[in-house]
Amino acid sequence: MARYLGSACVLCRREGEKLYLKGDRCYTAKCAIERRNYPPGPHGPTGTRRKLSDYAMQLREKQKARRIYGVLERQFRRYFAEASKSAGVTGAALLQLLETRLDNVVYRLGFASSRKQARQLVLHGHFTVNGEKVNIPSYNVKPGAQIAVAEASRKSAYFQAIAKELSHRKPVEWLSLNVETLTGTVLALPSRQQIDTPLKEQLIVEYYSR
Ligand code: SF4
Repeated sequence: MARYLGSACVLCRREGEKLYLKGDRCYTAKCAIERRNYPPGPHGPTGTRRKLSDYAMQLREKQKARRIYGVLERQFRRYFAEASKSAGVTGAALLQLLETRLDNVVYRLGFASSRKQARQLVLHGHFTVNGEKVNIPSYNVKPGAQIAVAEASRKSAYFQAIAKELSHRKPVEWLSLNVETLTGTVLALPSRQQIDTPLKEQLIVEYYSR
């Protein structure tokens, strides 16, 4: 499937805020938003951000969500259709669907420093879900699911280093992690309050409800 292969930092500069797409670098002075917080394009630092119409704000919020979670338009639209059929609040259901993607769960558990890296790790077959190897980043994990580093990958230098780091960290409330076995469990679906992604999901709902 086609993916965006351009610079991640350009996406942040386009949105005018940090989307944390590059892991550790995002927390350093090398972050492009720290150094060049103006829109990408030929106008350079003199490029201004125009006042946005309601429609443009809704569009930007939808694009921001897609970029944060690394989801293409068609798939994002499918998530929205599924969320609108759910019994709960559509915006919160949409965020739940995005959060429970396997690549996001791997990122939230701390096995990767960005969702992009998590996606790569999943694609390369480093994880199992309930004991079965799964290499589909969009795989939707359910409450009770166990996500583990595949046995063959556990001894790798990368996961050994990650295990050391994770012994000092706690995952988000709706996940638990056993550092010894490098296994995470989905305790429950995340509530809106437990999702710290800086999104105004109501604007996304308005975008698709036009
Ligand atoms: Fe965005 Fe991270 Fe690049 Fe900063 S370093 S602009 S937060 S992707």
